[in-house]
Amino acid sequence: PKLTKVLLADLVDEQFEVMQQSAAGQSIELVNAVDQHAVILADRDKLIEILKNLISNAIKYNQPNGQVRVSYQQTAAQWTLTVADTGIGISQADQTRVFERFYRVDSSRNKQVVTGTGLGLAIVAELVAAMKGQIHLESQRGVGTSVAVTIPQSHATPDR
Ligand code: ATP
Ligand code: MG
Repeated sequence: PKLTKVLLADLVDEQFEVMQQSAAGQSIELVNAVDQHAVILADRDKLIEILKNLISNAIKYNQPNGQVRVSYQQTAAQWTLTVADTGIGISQADQTRVFERFYRVDSSRNKQVVTGTGLGLAIVAELVAAMKGQIHLESQRGVGTSVAVTIPQSHATPDR
């Protein structure tokens, strides 16, 4: 895999720009809480694909005047990227299934939610597995969802 130094906050800003219109249409606030200096050694394309899918979900399944917040934490051993929303949430039963290909929560429970193929989270899960990482989803119906992707710092720390 081609690993490069990625300025994560910039990548998040780029995705926010792409999705700014759909977010504004629902009065959803996009918050980039990633440290401006945070550099990750990673496959840039995989990271973009992960961000694209998680942020698009956080916007699509949000509620009017909601918020999407992307944050980042790191330790010597691993880094974690979290996309949190104040959206419709996912029931306990559905939480175990949303990573399956083509699985979408019943559209009646999702209100009139928009289009999708049900592949986004399955793709994220594959990419994260390829990076030897883990996904942790927390959600509460009517309150929101947070998806955390944790990847080991299995490679040399890039120079500052
Ligand atoms: P695609 O991403 O392929 O365009 P999709 O968004 O329906 O379609 P996934 O991203 O795999 O597919 O998500 C699967 C299902 O999980 C969604 O249809 C939705 O019901 C639920 N879901 C995913 N993310 C969220 C979220 N942040 N809040 C609430 N429900 C979610
Ligand atoms: Mg999706």
